[in-house]
Amino acid sequence: MSKKLFKNKDIVLTGQYLGVVEEFLPDKQTTFIKEGQIYASKSGLINIDEKKREIEIKTHQEKDRKVVRKGDIVIGTILFLRQYSVGVNFYTVNSKIHFNSYYFGNIHVSQVSDRYIDKIYDAFQITDILRARVIEQNYNEYKLSTVGKSLGVIYADCMICGTPLKKIGFNKLRCQRCGNVETRKIANDYGNVNESLRF
Ligand SMILES: [Zn+2]
Repeated sequence: MSKKLFKNKDIVLTGQYLGVVEEFLPDKQTTFIKEGQIYASKSGLINIDEKKREIEIKTHQEKDRKVVRKGDIVIGTILFLRQYSVGVNFYTVNSKIHFNSYYFGNIHVSQVSDRYIDKIYDAFQITDILRARVIEQNYNEYKLSTVGKSLGVIYADCMICGTPLKKIGFNKLRCQRCGNVETRKIANDYGNVNESLRF
């Protein structure tokens, strides 16, 4: 197996043999393994990362793809709070809205901020809309992170009266109707978001 079958940007078809698992770390979304051999599960262009020995297939519709990948930026709503994590439903991947399929992710308390977060409800509340980054995939569940200035809550309602909250500090929001002040991990464009939040 010293002779290379493919080089970067070569076109492959679904089902085509790509190599053996000893050679490459195959991408789960675009390849499959049968008896130690790697095959293409999609047609597209070969992409080999020589350093990491990773092989994947870039489809022509990369910008329109509907699968979630590590590194994607997603927008979703907080479904539930647990002691050390929150559950998030998300519908968008890199600014594309996918109404027909929603995804589920969670954010562990250690992945909320680069500042120490003691209690998860100091950062999020149910129904908050947030922007997060995908850091890991486990079958249909995704681990998300809101570490970084552009990530975190982008829309939140007052817990008491339901009025949209206004940003008054780097982690503080205030209700203009009842005066209630709440704490969140806020994205830097809170209140001035480009994405459509109606999903
Ligand atoms: Zn209020």
